[in-house]
Amino acid sequence: MFEKKPPAKQGENKPASKLPAGLLKRGIMRVAPKPEPAPAMFEKILIANRGEIALRIQRACREMGIKTVAVHSEADADAKYVRLADESVCIGPAPSSQSYLHIPAIISAAEVTDAQAIHPGYGFLSENADFAERVEKSGFVFIGPRPETIRMMGDKVTAKNTMKKAGVPCVPGVDGGLPDNPSEIIKIARSIGYPVIIKASGGGGGRGMRVVHTEAALLNAVAMTRSEAQSAFNNPMVYMEKFLENPRHIEFQVLADSYGNAVYLGERDCSMQRRHQKIIEEAPATLLNVRLRNKIGERCAEACRKIGYRGAGTFEFLYENDEFFFIEMNTRVQVEHPVTEMITGVDIVQQQIHIAAGEKLSIKQKDIVFKGHAIECRINAEHPYKFTPSPGRITAWHPPGGPGIRVDSHVYANYFVPPHYDSMIGKIIAYGDTRDQAMARMRTALSEMAVEGIETNIPLHQELMQDAAFLSGGTNIHYLEHKLAERTKGK
Ligand code: ADP
Repeated sequence: MFEKKPPAKQGENKPASKLPAGLLKRGIMRVAPKPEPAPAMFEKILIANRGEIALRIQRACREMGIKTVAVHSEADADAKYVRLADESVCIGPAPSSQSYLHIPAIISAAEVTDAQAIHPGYGFLSENADFAERVEKSGFVFIGPRPETIRMMGDKVTAKNTMKKAGVPCVPGVDGGLPDNPSEIIKIARSIGYPVIIKASGGGGGRGMRVVHTEAALLNAVAMTRSEAQSAFNNPMVYMEKFLENPRHIEFQVLADSYGNAVYLGERDCSMQRRHQKIIEEAPATLLNVRLRNKIGERCAEACRKIGYRGAGTFEFLYENDEFFFIEMNTRVQVEHPVTEMITGVDIVQQQIHIAAGEKLSIKQKDIVFKGHAIECRINAEHPYKFTPSPGRITAWHPPGGPGIRVDSHVYANYFVPPHYDSMIGKIIAYGDTRDQAMARMRTALSEMAVEGIETNIPLHQELMQDAAFLSGGTNIHYLEHKLAERTKGK
């Protein structure tokens, strides 16, 4: 479609030196040791995403003086963040397969706008190794890990084996994919002990998992997960691990540069989930032994150094009886990154950009201070209890404010929530000196928030912010499902 340009060299457009030519000529610079040239920062970044994260990345760029290119589908043409970008390119019709997942259209948009780097956000192409490879081969910088790393972590069996070797504790289970032989599968399940969980190696987004409680149900569950894995992820490999019955989901945020430096920014508790999808996240995790946190955090940072990880990443664990079990690594920015930003003061998106531009990490582990507590509620356009999506026009939008409240959202009054994409329309993040204060602020924020024209899950969040078990230190990953089931029974 468009002519390919040679790979952009960082710093090509920058003057070689700001010193007057006279000084250089007289050799005055020669007496001082030659300073290492600082890598040049990008002048323009293309944001290959939509919604709140597209706006979040745009804000990070603007603060850094970087121009932005918004790519959008026809359904998002009128979005405010598209208009706020320095440039925008329509990359196709509403369905994401023809727009946000359409690699040639995105690369062409980068070419015609002369962007130097592409930020993939989360979801869509963010963990697509082929995309990262195409971006780099076309001469742009992919703001994320190397394609090989994404590929390795996208295959959960390989990821688990790699982490095990790097000294990260994993959920007990088999090291490879399940064999075809039924009696071998039965033997493996017996050796792990029921209940077990069958998971697709290429799975993601909470899909491609099946819990098995009895041997009678095992082979059927393996066959079903396998065929789902083939159709949804184009990879039939499934594996088996112990199904943990009372764990919390605790994940560690890491940052690593291209020079072997890596730090961890503490942990987040994301145990409030429905259908393996997070809806409330907080940092720090409650009831966590600080020494254990530091030990696991350091293991994650060390694993990054060992595998040559680059960029921001998240190590996800299940935590039960004071033990951590690695489940997977996400090689991108997470929806819940703001809670970490609130308690560390580190802008994770800006760090991604600095790292991608070739800079060394400016943060040292000893400088990272965790202060206060932050909670995030994901606001979805859906029925609060039936969970049916509720797209449509937002007729009134009154976001909350006040001390410690951050709202990350791209919507506004008269915004039309398109039916084609994820139902999340924003996130409220409440910060406080203590967990109790963060909760109190969140309750006030939710009560102030008014969204009309569509349904949202705000009533569910309000209920959870009053929930005795949640308030008294948090709950395990199965709690919300059980609570919702009880609720339905009671009706
Ligand atoms: P995805 O990539 O689809 O998000 P994960 O492996 O991260 O899949 O798992 C998502 C969620 O599924 C976890 O947060 C947890 O709630 C549940 N889960 C995964 N593995 C196990 C397990 N071994 N035992 C219990 N729950 C699990």
